[in-house]
Amino acid sequence: MIKFLDIKAMHDELGEGRGLESTFANVLKSNQFILGPELAAFEQEFAAYCGTAYCVGVGNGLDALTIILKALGISSGDEVIVPAHTFIATWLSVVECGATPVPVEPDPNTFNIDPDRIRAAITASTRAIVPVHLYGRPADMTAIQAIADEHGIPVIEDAAQSHGAASGPDRTGSLGIAAAFSFYPAKNLGALGDGGAITTSNRELFEKVLRYRNYGSVTKYQHETTGVNSRLDELQAAFLRLKLNHLEGWNAARRRVAKQYIDRLSGIANITIPQETNHLVHAWHLFVIKTDKRDMLANALGEQGIETVIHYPVAPMFQAAFKHRFPKAAQAFPITRQLQGQVLSLPMGPHLTTEDVDRVCDAIVQVFSK
Ligand SMILES: *Cc1c(COP(=O)(O)O)cnc(C)c1O
Repeated sequence: MIKFLDIKAMHDELGEGRGLESTFANVLKSNQFILGPELAAFEQEFAAYCGTAYCVGVGNGLDALTIILKALGISSGDEVIVPAHTFIATWLSVVECGATPVPVEPDPNTFNIDPDRIRAAITASTRAIVPVHLYGRPADMTAIQAIADEHGIPVIEDAAQSHGAASGPDRTGSLGIAAAFSFYPAKNLGALGDGGAITTSNRELFEKVLRYRNYGSVTKYQHETTGVNSRLDELQAAFLRLKLNHLEGWNAARRRVAKQYIDRLSGIANITIPQETNHLVHAWHLFVIKTDKRDMLANALGEQGIETVIHYPVAPMFQAAFKHRFPKAAQAFPITRQLQGQVLSLPMGPHLTTEDVDRVCDAIVQVFSK
C-alpha cells in the first residue's frame, strides 16, 4: 500500500520530547489558548520565513483570502480575476466580499493562470488579481504584476499550496501586496486542524487585517471597525512552530521525490509530466501528471494499492454553486475543461522512499505497455 500522503510519518519524525505531545502539554499548562505568545512567535517566525514584514494568523486559508480582499475594500460591483483551474476556495473568497470572480484559463503546461489571458479579462470594474501557486509551483508573478501595475490594481497570492516555494530568491508570500496561506493538515505546512495566515509587508494592510480577524479590535473592547472572529489559536500556532522547523527538510524530500518521478517517467507515451524550471523553487505540494487515460490509470494503480487523487475533478465554474453564472463555460474555457478530465496526482510527500516511487513508476510503465 502506497499512501497518497502519510501525515503520520511526518509526525513520527518530530521525535520524543520535542514532539507534538509535549507541545500540547506546554500550551495546556500555560492556560492561554487565544491570541497568546505562541501565536505572536509563530507570526514572527513565519513572516521571517516568507521574507515579509508581517504575518497575521487566522482561522483557515479561505478566511485569509477573504480578509485580505475585504481589507482592500473589495465589495459588490467589483470584479476579481481568479484562475479557472483552482480549488473553489479562491473563488469563494471573492463571493464572500460580494464581488464577482472573473475566471482566466490556465497555461496547460504549468497549470497556473495564463498571464497573457489576464489582460483580456480586465474591465473597468477589475479591482484585484488573485493568482494561485497551484500544486506548489509559483505563478508567473513578474508578468502578472506588470499587467496589474498598468491598471493600478493589487495582486494577492493564494499561497495555500506553496509554503517554501520561491521565484528567484523571493519566497511565495512575499510576491504580491499580500498572500493567503492555509495550514489545513494536508498542506506542506499543516496544523492539527484548521489554520491560516496572511503575510504582507504593507503596514496599512497589516493593521487592517489584524483588526478585522479579531472583531475589528486590537485593544480589548475597543472596536475601530467591524470584523470577524478568525484567529489562529495557541495550540495550532505551537504545533506549526514545531513543524516550521521541518518544512525545509520536508520540501527537500518532496523535491527528491519529484526528481525521481521526472527521471523515471520522462518520455513515456500517453502521459505528460510536470517539469522543474531553473528560476523557480517548486514546493511540490502535488505531483500532477496529465493523461487522456486518467480514469483507467487511476483504477489500475488503485488495484495495486497505490493511492492517487484528482485535483480537481470539477472546476468551480462547472460546480452547481457556479454553473448558472457560466452557461457557456464548456466552449469558453476549453483548457480548464480538458484539464479536469486529464489530471492525476501521484503519491507525494516526504514519507515516500526511493522504492515507493520506483513501485509507482513501474506500475505506470506497466499499465501503458499492455
Ligand atoms: C487549501 C486551499 C485553500 C483553502 O484553505 P482552507 O484552509 O482549507 O480554507 C485555498 N486555496 C487553495 C488553492 C487551497 O489549496
